[in-house]
Formats: sequence, C-alpha cells, structure tokens
Amino acid sequence: MRILANDGIAADGKSLLTESGFEVITDKINQDDLAGRIKEFDILIVRSATKVNRAILEAGQGTLKLVVRAGVGVDNIDLASAKEFGIDVSNTPLSSSLSVAELVFAHLFSLVRFIGQSNINMTDLDVPKFNELKKKYSEGIELRGKTLGLIGFGRIGQETAKIGISLGMKVVYHDPFVENIKLRFEHLPFNPTPSIELNSSAINEVFKEADFITLHVPFNKGMTPTINRESLQVVKKGVGIVNCARGGVVDELALLDAISSGQVAYAALDVFEYEPEVRKELQNNPKISLTPHIGASTKEAQDRISLEVAMVIKNKFSK
Ligand code: NAD
Repeated sequence: MRILANDGIAADGKSLLTESGFEVITDKINQDDLAGRIKEFDILIVRSATKVNRAILEAGQGTLKLVVRAGVGVDNIDLASAKEFGIDVSNTPLSSSLSVAELVFAHLFSLVRFIGQSNINMTDLDVPKFNELKKKYSEGIELRGKTLGLIGFGRIGQETAKIGISLGMKVVYHDPFVENIKLRFEHLPFNPTPSIELNSSAINEVFKEADFITLHVPFNKGMTPTINRESLQVVKKGVGIVNCARGGVVDELALLDAISSGQVAYAALDVFEYEPEVRKELQNNPKISLTPHIGASTKEAQDRISLEVAMVIKNKFSK
C-alpha cells in the first residue's frame, strides 16, 4: 500500500511502516495540487499544515482508505466528507501530552521572568543599558505557591497539573467529564509512587481562584470561546492565561482588551483564531508570549507520534 506522509513523519515510524511492507512517500504535495494527486495513495498522513478538505476526500473516494492525523485535534480534516466518501479518520492522541505540558511552563517561566523580552532587548549592551534592563526586569514572580487553574483535564491537562504540583503550585481544574481523579507521579523517584486526588470545580470557581489559567479543551467551529468577555470579568485581576489548545478557545480581541485594562497581566498563545495568520496586535506585545503552534514539536513527541501512526496503520491493514 502507498502512504503519503504529506507533512513528514519521524524516522522511527517510517522505518516500522517500511519494514512492514508499506511504501512511504514523504515528498510534500502542495495543498492546491493534492486533490489531483490523491488517487495515487491508499493512506494519507498529515500533521496540521495540510488541510484535508472535501475536494481532496471526494477525489480520493474509492482509493483512499484512511487519513491519519499525526497529532491530537482532527479539526484540519473534513470529518463529515470523510464519512460520506467512506474514508476512515484516525489520530494519535497519546504521544504529545508531555511536550505540550512542558510548553505551557516554558511560556509561564518566560512571562513571569521576562525572558522573551529580555532576550530581545539584550543587544548593543553597554553598562547603562545593562543597568536599565536589570531594573526593568527586576519585578519577576515565582510560580511556587501560586494557583494553576486548568480548563479541560484530559491527557494534556493532567500532565500539566503534574508539573504544576511538582513545582509546588496549587492546582484546581474544571472538566465536566472528569469529576474526580487520582494523579499518579510515576516519573518521580519515590517508592511508593506518590499520588494526589483532585476534584473538578465549577468553571467560575477556577476562574476566581487561579493566578494562571491554562486551557486544554477541544475546539470545533461554532463553539463559544472559553475565555471571552464574560469570563474575563470573573477572573482574578492580574491573571496569566495560556492557550496551547486550539485557536478559538480564547476570544483574542477580548483578551487584548483585558490586557490593556490590566485585568490580564500576561498571556501565552501557541494557537490562533485565524491560524496560520496571527493578529498584528498580539505581536510584539511585552505581555504576550507567542509560539507558532509547536506544542507537539519536540523530537521525543514526534518519535512517539510516528510510532503511534505506524501502529494505527499496521493494526488496520496488516494481517
Ligand atoms: P483530551 O481529549 O485528552 O482532553 C480534553 C478534555 O477536555 C477532556 O477531558 C474533556 O472532558 C474536556 N472538556 C471537553 N469540553 C470541556 C469543557 N467545555 N470544559 C472543560 N473541559 C472540557 O485532549 P488532550 O490530548 O488533552 O488535548 C487537549 C487540547 O490540546 C485539544 O484541543 C488538542 O487539540 C490540543 N493540542 C494542542 C497541541 C499543540 O500543538 N498546541 C498538541 C496536542 C493537542
């Protein structure tokens, strides 16, 4: 069977597929040319760059059997059309949670100690400028002792909570489908493995209590943003907000207004309402830390994802 990995695939997964008799092509086909070429392939693997729209799926009808999203969200795949044309869709939800959780803290540490801004400004240094910047960035805060509020307590939410707790943060969360959970800290070198039990709180309680709010919910077109003008009235003044979930979970204009008024002290965004476009007003704002949708973009996560992709395909097609 011929597989097109249109946004690439890490070596481990590619080797596993090749050894299992699949032909894996990693030459990128442009979005606009993909519908015209899709009949050459039985399986399509994408990350977030390729948009698997109706035209591509319709053209693949009868030959394309499976689309695998190498990642969590399948919002770049037209699921209704895939169903209509009899093409299965799968994803790899297990592999990237830790990398996304670590990115949340990369942003948080950067914001509370001005790392991003400091790096931008530590150029053409002389003694007066060094002293000026030293003063400018001298009012950082620690994360230990602060309250981390999570909205969405699935795989990534729970990994994020574990890091927060390990740092000495208090963790509260809201998830209507995960009412109570025992988090186990298997990665810590203690015997017996430590664990902690947490209960879901009402969303407004999390908003009121948290010093930092981080979002880990799914999002599809038509959903209301979790962070919107109303919720921004409820949050603690001076809160930090992190969105490493999906653009649309945060109303960006409402967020910008809340930053201007001081209601929100910091924000970090890895995902955007009009991705891959990013609103100009979000850019070069000292209170906002931006990354270009790189939550799962670590070597380790991509290696694990490639193996998870390979297992999805092998389980479906190998005898
Ligand atoms: P998951 O399915 O394991 O967890 C999502 C959780 O959200 C579930 O527990 C669900 O019950 C909860 N939830 C659903 N609706 C809710 C609501 N209205 N309020 C509160 N909780 C709600 O998913 P995950 O693997 O943890 O992924 C979370 C998000 O992160 C997804 O949006 C995913 O697309 C995104 N993601 C982003 C990146 C990145 O590169 N930035 C990488 C991977 C995943």
